Amino acid sequence: MLKLGLHVSISGSIDRAVDRAVEKGCNTFQIFTRNPRGWRSRDLTREEVEAFIEKVEKFKIEPVFGHMPYLPNLASPKDETYRRSVESLITELRRCVELKIPYLVTHLGSHLGAGMEIGFERIIKAVNRGLSEVEGNVMLLLENTAGTKNSMGGSFEDIRYIIERVDYPERVGVCFDTCHGFAAGYDLRTMESVESTIKMLDEVIGFEKLKLVHLNDSKGGLNSRIDRHEHIGMGMIGEEGFRNILKSRLGQLPLILETPIDKRRSDVENLQKVRELAGETEP
Ligand code: ZN
Ligand code: MN
Ligand code: MN
Repeated sequence: MLKLGLHVSISGSIDRAVDRAVEKGCNTFQIFTRNPRGWRSRDLTREEVEAFIEKVEKFKIEPVFGHMPYLPNLASPKDETYRRSVESLITELRRCVELKIPYLVTHLGSHLGAGMEIGFERIIKAVNRGLSEVEGNVMLLLENTAGTKNSMGGSFEDIRYIIERVDYPERVGVCFDTCHGFAAGYDLRTMESVESTIKMLDEVIGFEKLKLVHLNDSKGGLNSRIDRHEHIGMGMIGEEGFRNILKSRLGQLPLILETPIDKRRSDVENLQKVRELAGETEP
């Protein structure tokens, strides 16, 4: 059976996210532990933390994934942005420990033209700071990006470079986003291309490092470097691509959808589409 879920809202109080995930038929889910659009976050109350943990246990809806907010840039060459970004990373790692969330997903940011070398140096330092400040059971997952201009983490080699140089490699894993991967040039349309992408990932990073798949179709074509998510099967990866992805080893991992919110298809219909393409239900 698929480990399949959505990115759900924490609106109201954080434990409401668990209710939403359950209502939509997820058996895993992802959240921002706070409003993702600002720098500041309010502390969680004891009551919400307890309610969240209780509901996750009660519904056995695990693992839960946290995702870093939008503003932090761990590769930023600007000192003030970088300082706040590292602070955010520490805060988010702490919140995950508090909420018993075992994984925190982060993007690798943009060097803003300062060059990859500076970007890598900053990311590695940030990961080391975060993991040395926050002990406890949370693994940081580095997410591959679409390879847009100045972005870090568009290739498996970029991700390996970081993992090889951090102080706590055992506390660092990987999240593979299918939209980002496809846009960065990793083909996922045929069984052969899915297998060859997995082989590259395995040879460069190690498949065992992969803890999560962000299952999104792509509006942009192969190697387009465009980060625009599409409903499952309605984009350039297409239904056949997802059928192959789901049949491969990627389909055995937790799958989180970050598909668009619009009139063409709902969240629940995207989940249904994935189950159908995996052969779990009739179309
Ligand atoms: Zn992400
Ligand atoms: Mn993603
Ligand atoms: Mn994206």
